Amino acid sequence: MQYKLKEPVHGSIGTEKYKCVIEWRNGEFIADEPVKSGGKDLGPDPFTLLLSSLASCTLITLRMYIERKGWDIPEIKVNANLFQTKNEDALTTFIDRDIVFPPGLEPEKLNRLLEIAEHCPISKMLEGKVKVRSYVYHDEDVDKKLKYTNGDITVVWKPELCKHSGRCVTQLPGVFNLKTKPWVTITGADSETIKAQVDMCPTGALSYFKNDSSSTTELPATGGAGL
Ligand code: SF4
Repeated sequence: MQYKLKEPVHGSIGTEKYKCVIEWRNGEFIADEPVKSGGKDLGPDPFTLLLSSLASCTLITLRMYIERKGWDIPEIKVNANLFQTKNEDALTTFIDRDIVFPPGLEPEKLNRLLEIAEHCPISKMLEGKVKVRSYVYHDEDVDKKLKYTNGDITVVWKPELCKHSGRCVTQLPGVFNLKTKPWVTITGADSETIKAQVDMCPTGALSYFKNDSSSTTELPATGGAGL
C-alpha cells in the first residue's frame, strides 16, 4: 500500500461558520459553505471541490495526451455538475462532465479524447470502489514524534501518520515489533537494513536521519503510545 500523497491533506475548522483551512503541499486555501447554507462563501464548498478535482484531472490528462500526440488543440474547457437520486435508501450520484473543444476537430480525435477523459485517474477512482476509513486522533498525538537511535542513525516515528499497514512489523520484526516495549528495537538490525525498511513505510510515519556526531540524540525512556 502506498499513499498517493507524501503528506496528507490537512484540514481544520474553528468556530467561524463554516470556514475550513485546507493545507496542501504548496500552500493553503479556504473551503466554506454558501450563504444559503449558513457559511460566508469564502471558498469552494465540498461538492465544488470534488467537481474541481474531476475537472482538473480531466483537463490535465487530456493535455498530456494531446502533447504526446502533437495535436494542435490550444484550449479545452470542462463543465462539471452533479445531481443525486435516492431510491430505497440507496444514494446514487450522477456526475455530468461536458468537455468543450475548439471547433473543427475530426470525429475520430473527439472520440479518442472522450475515451481518454473517461480514463483519467479521478474518473477511474470515482467509478471504482471507494472506502473512506476514519481514525480518531488527539492533538497530543498529532504533534508527537518518537525517536529511536543506535548512535549512527535516528529513526523517527509519527503515530498520527501510522495506519498500521503492518509492513514494517512483518518485514523487519527484529526491529519493529508490536509485542515489545518500545516497539522499535533499534539494535535489531544494522543501519542500512533499517533505512531500507523505513523507506518502505507507505504513509511517511517512519523516517530517519543520520546522526550528527556533535549532537546528542534524545531517546524515549520507553516506546510511547503503547507501542
Ligand atoms: S510505521 Fe509505516 S510501515 Fe509501520 S505499521 Fe505504521 S504505517 Fe505501516
